[in-house]
This record gives sequence, structure tokens and C-alpha cells, in this order.
Amino acid sequence: MNVYDGLRIAAMLEHHGLESTDNVADADIILLNTCAVRAKATDKVYSALGRIRRAKKPDAIYGIVGCVARESGADAFRKIRDLNFVLGPQSYHKLPEIIKNPDSKLLDIDLGGLEKFDELPPITKSPFVAYIPVQEGCNHCCTYCIVPFTRGREISRPYNDILAETMHAAAVGAIEICFIGQNVNGYKYTDENGKTYRLSDLIKQTAKIDSVKRIRFTSSYPTEMTDDLIELFKTESKLLPFLNMPIQSGSNNILQKMNRQYNLDEYITIINKFKIARPDIQISSDFIVGFPGETNTDFEQTVDIAKQIKYINSYSFKYSPRPHTAAAIMQNQIPENIKSERLIKLDAVLNDIQREFNLSCQDKVFDCLYEGADKTGTKQIYRTPYMQPCIVETDNPTPMARIKITSGNKSCLHGKIVD
Ligand code: SF4
Repeated sequence: MNVYDGLRIAAMLEHHGLESTDNVADADIILLNTCAVRAKATDKVYSALGRIRRAKKPDAIYGIVGCVARESGADAFRKIRDLNFVLGPQSYHKLPEIIKNPDSKLLDIDLGGLEKFDELPPITKSPFVAYIPVQEGCNHCCTYCIVPFTRGREISRPYNDILAETMHAAAVGAIEICFIGQNVNGYKYTDENGKTYRLSDLIKQTAKIDSVKRIRFTSSYPTEMTDDLIELFKTESKLLPFLNMPIQSGSNNILQKMNRQYNLDEYITIINKFKIARPDIQISSDFIVGFPGETNTDFEQTVDIAKQIKYINSYSFKYSPRPHTAAAIMQNQIPENIKSERLIKLDAVLNDIQREFNLSCQDKVFDCLYEGADKTGTKQIYRTPYMQPCIVETDNPTPMARIKITSGNKSCLHGKIVD
């Protein structure tokens, strides 16, 4: 979502005649697009603003957009007095106001709805992957999560608006469409004729666009996986066989304290339905270790489920207390050193699984999507259907290529183009 927001902001500023620079000292406007999901990210915002303040031209305007802006509100101006703007995740389309009046202060952290999607110009230079938001906000109230506060309640975008954006992205070069939303599979839009559309309808319609070769979506809530969506994995070959479906913890006790709306058995049942629909499917997850009250036994259950499902490409974090959340004031907060030990242990297990999966890909042939040159500029990086980076030596990279995997390690694959 932040990548998408960043692209839209860049497109909007270009529309107003600005161009981008990597050098803060050259910039006329500097913004930080911020994430509040973890405390560490929030803490870094103010030190980064201090650095920007010292490096920028005296008359350059600067500020923050996104979830830390929503969380901080007017406090941000109290912390940094000459800050010019503080715009929440649903207000960044108002940036041009401050460009017109650089001597003013602009604060807008309202959860207005979907206006930003109407106000912003379309992205004109699409890379091969287009992120298309289908909904904003979340109606789940996981006790650790700040998103319902920063992004608000769930709102699904109009079906036709999403399709129009998807077709535009395809027309300017997108080959892979990634539908995004905090609760992407909760997408539900009823039009003026009373017809209701779900994520499966968006996928079916998108698959009809010839130039779109790959479709995926993220991030999904397990119990919102409806049968129509699962069934689509049987028939729609453009849907990648890779799904992010966060479990967060392998302990029913902790899942309940997190207010996740499923238990372990229910979660595994959903995974099994996917495996029946698409036997080659692989799952990734997010994990939180050290949630308040997590015992060693709870944690070991998380390790067990990671081994059982064999998640690939997962994200694991230490629990981080966030303001406006129930878990932040729960008893039995776990000491930092124990959280760190558990994270190291879980990461080691997840890394082993990833390595094993990457090695199992050797000699397989995948249709891969071109991403760009590697850091040295001498090799090219493609993405497999499981989103693994695959390094290839070629002087003539094409947007899509059939690649035979020649070797793999924990972090990447190597391959050569066939055909
Ligand atoms: S479902 Fe995801 S976004 Fe929604 S409250 Fe839970 S963790 Fe946050």
C-alpha cells in the first residue's frame, strides 16, 4: 500500500510540474511517506525529519504523509515547529494546497473516505507490476494493530473504478496486477443496481485482458477466504500459485488474545481447501512473536505451525506496543530479550524452510517477470511465480521469460532463459 501511495504522490507532484531528485539539498519539497505499524518505524520518522531539516534549502517545504501523520496530528508541528504539512493516508491528495501556499501550515488527518482516488492523476509510467488498491481500512480489530485507527473502517472502491485503473495500468505496460488492501479479500462493492462484486469478480475480469499475464493479491484475512475465491485458483491460470495469508501465531490462546477470528484448525482447513484447488500453491505468512502473555509453549506452537505449513517468503516481527490498541495495555508484556530470542529462533526455522523450497526449485522451469538489473548492472533479476528473485545473465531481458532454475540458496535463485 505504501509503494502504491508513493507512486501516486510522485505522479501527482509531476502533474504539478515538479521532478524528482535523490538529493535533499536540491529539493523544493520533501515528504516522508510513513508507516505506523511498528514503533521502530515511527521513532525513525522524527530523527529523519531532523536530518532533512539540517540538509534542506532554507525555503524548501517539508512534511509527513501517511500513518504516522495520522497518529501524530498537530503534535508533529509541536515537535518540529517549521514543519509545513502533516497529511494522513487519506488526505495526501491535498499536497498541492501547500505547494500553492508554501508559507502556510497544512494539517489534514481525517478519514474522509475514497476522495483521494478521484483527485489523483493516474500513474502514467507503469512498471511491469501495477498495485491496484481495492479497499482501504479494516473492520477487524486485532488487539495489536493500529491500522483501524490510522486507515479507518473498511471501504471498498467502486468496481468500475478499479477496472478502469487496471485497464489503464495494463495499457501503459503492466503485465502483473497486484490487488492490494489491508483486507483485500474482504472486498465487497454493491453498485446502484444492487449487484454485488467480490474480489473474484475483479480477478475474472482482469484475466480477460490479454497483456496481463499474472494476477495476485495481498493481504488476506483467513476467514474472509470465500469459496468463490478459492475455486478460482482451480481454473484461473493467471492467478499466481502464491498466497499471503497471515496466521500471526500458532497458539489458539494467543490468537484469541489477538482477537483473530479463527483457531488453528479453522486456519488449516482453509489452507487445505487451497491445496485441493491448486496443488502447487505456496503460502506466506506474517508472524508476531512475544505478544503479551505468550508462553514458551505458545511460542513453540508457532514454530510447529511454521514447520507444518512450510511457509515461504514470510515476515516475522517482535510484538511492538502501539498507541490506540488494546494489547498495549495488556498485562504480562514480554521482556525485550525474550522477544529477541524467540524472533531469532523463528527466523532460523523460516530461513531453513525458504532454503529448502528454493533448492527444490532446481531444474524446474518457470514463467518469470522481469524486474530490472541487479546492483552491479551486469545481471538481470526476474521474479518467479512464487516471487523469488531469480538472477539471470542475459544481454536482452524481455518482460516475461521462461527460465530454468540452475541453483538456489536461501535468498535467491539462479537460472537461464530457455526457448
Ligand atoms: S486484519 Fe490486519 S489490518 Fe486489520 S486489524 Fe488485523 S492486523 Fe490490522
